[in-house]
Amino acid sequence: MTIFQNARFHTTVNHIRDLPATRAEVAFVGRSNSGKSSAINTLANRTRLAFVSKTPGRTQHINFFDLGNERYLVDLPGYGFADVPVAIRHHWVELLGRYLQTRKSLIGLLLIMDVRHPLKDLDQNMLTFYRVTGRPVHILLSKADKLSRQHQQKTLAAVKKSLIDYPGVTVQLFSSLKKTGMEEVETVVSGWFDAALGEEELCPQGED
Ligand code: GDP
Repeated sequence: MTIFQNARFHTTVNHIRDLPATRAEVAFVGRSNSGKSSAINTLANRTRLAFVSKTPGRTQHINFFDLGNERYLVDLPGYGFADVPVAIRHHWVELLGRYLQTRKSLIGLLLIMDVRHPLKDLDQNMLTFYRVTGRPVHILLSKADKLSRQHQQKTLAAVKKSLIDYPGVTVQLFSSLKKTGMEEVETVVSGWFDAALGEEELCPQGED
């Protein structure tokens, strides 16, 4: 059983004040259509788990999934929609911006990018914006099956090279369709959780 496979829908949040108390969470973020929902569903081995985030009224919300053992997965609204009304965009920026930069229990970010369109402006903004937290980002180059193996490796190398100015950012290939790259994500995310929860156990809150 892998860490994502116990995932259960927990709650939907539309205001910072409603965020649930958690000890450790990892968040999935990416442009709309990047393959984020498919990646979450594939990792959780479920067909429609993340599509709760696509139901009307929830698309611009933050959705929490309980992974058990005090671990949470967070599905953040996709960005880059062509014609989102200004008011909704402002709400998104406010909600996401505050969540990403102030959420203490957010221990790392999974950034999903279509392997055929990596590091778009909004993705780079996201990396720059999140860099101030000093927390790690792991990039999934999704839909890898859409490219030949050679082309996949070429893209991976090019993206790695472009990330030289972003310490703490790692990258891998991923395909929900072929279920490839799953172990690598698991290893990275398990490492984040173990470090975060392990550290806290050694030094419980309120003690020196
Ligand atoms: P989201 O908007 O980022 O949540 O993206 P979705 O998960 O809904 O995926 C967007 C589109 O890409 C859908 O048509 C998916 O079927 C397709 N897609 C997602 N992942 C893969 C993949 O690994 N391989 C292929 N070939 N298509 C994918």
